Amino acid sequence: MKNRSINTKCVQGGYTPKNGEPRQIPIIQSTTFKYDTSEDMGKLFDLEASGYFYTRLQNPTNDMVAAKIAELEGGTAAMLTSSGQAANFFALFNICECGSHIVASSSIYGGTFNLIAVTMAKMGIEVTFVSPTASDEELNAAFKDNTRAMFGETIANPALTVLDIEKFAKAAHAHGVPLIVDNTFPTPVNCRPIEWGADIVTHSTTKYMDGHGAAVGGAIVDSGKFDWMAHADKFPGLCTPDESYHGITYAEKFGKEGAFITKATAQLMRDFGSIQSPQNAFILNLGLESLHVRMPRHVENGQAVAEFLEKHPKIEKVNYSGLKSDPYYEVAQKYLPNGGCGVVSFEIKGGRAAAEKFMKSLKLAAIETHVADARTCCLNPATSTHRQMTDEQLKAAGIPAGLVRMSCGLEDKNDLIADIAAALEEV
Ligand SMILES: *Cc1c(COP(=O)(O)O)cnc(C)c1O
Repeated sequence: MKNRSINTKCVQGGYTPKNGEPRQIPIIQSTTFKYDTSEDMGKLFDLEASGYFYTRLQNPTNDMVAAKIAELEGGTAAMLTSSGQAANFFALFNICECGSHIVASSSIYGGTFNLIAVTMAKMGIEVTFVSPTASDEELNAAFKDNTRAMFGETIANPALTVLDIEKFAKAAHAHGVPLIVDNTFPTPVNCRPIEWGADIVTHSTTKYMDGHGAAVGGAIVDSGKFDWMAHADKFPGLCTPDESYHGITYAEKFGKEGAFITKATAQLMRDFGSIQSPQNAFILNLGLESLHVRMPRHVENGQAVAEFLEKHPKIEKVNYSGLKSDPYYEVAQKYLPNGGCGVVSFEIKGGRAAAEKFMKSLKLAAIETHVADARTCCLNPATSTHRQMTDEQLKAAGIPAGLVRMSCGLEDKNDLIADIAAALEEV
């Protein structure tokens, strides 16, 4: 599939049935796998042979779908996780431990922010947050001797900032650490961070990849490019023998192409067990089969809604990197030439009460804690996810009380605009 178009990879990547085999990816609904001898099974436990023994670690359905995602991102190996949260945790914890430090963009998903700033801090892993628009000097100044990873989101949820991937990759590599990029919002159809220097790519597959609000899931893809052995002192987990696997050194045995995902599967999946169910992997694959058809429509609808809102007198401000007025327009032109995603955020004049009245009056867009669904949905952070904050605190966090995040679905854009226009009349 290497030279095929991304459109073809969405449909047929990851699985090529042989003579007489199922056309559709089979759901291997089995917790375990049968072997003729204990010796055969022992080879799997020692990572001497590849195969399946227990679905907490690996399942064939998941691996077929992960292989498709690896092809889409242009990586060498991938794994599915139970959620996007698990994917980002595994990607970071696979190379960080107590005493490590992470440099992360400050403009990231709230769940990932909590994970890094609060939960991983309890594990003794420190973080320095940097602005997505930080200069080279500011980025370089954030690194320490114990820095083990740099992290950012291609398009941040919900701030909709766009990451300068090349700039971040350059800073990470100058300090001998990989850049991990959460590529959930654009998906590989609109941006492939590995082509711009990212080393590890993560996803909440719950969003556009599934695309139908049906299954929570995550994925991690390895570019196969980061040379762990060249920085062996920083990554002992990959570059020194693993006693829980009879002294295997992942970076030696599986090389740059396979070490990261093998370790994350053999250690983290074994110990934390955040596996995606094969049923969910199957549903995810149905979504992937039409991802290349759906993304352009999400972008078309997002762009049309953003342009409509920008001209509306009741709207204070619109954030969407496809608008010429957006501060991220230039950087989006470089990394997202076909557009980013269908998520638009905007500030309604009149604050919290105006936002609430507007959202209540919408007929097509539903109020939901979700994005990237076929059906348009919206949320006012001030009255939902950030409800406990005062207007002052919201302002400090860069979230105006009247901010609405709208995820434009796959409906007709004229119907969406008519719905928004009618709801704004009510405000
Ligand atoms: C939703 C989301 C996550 C978390 O994913 P879940 O599947 O909800 O665990 C992580 N990163 C981004 C950018 C997201 O939008």
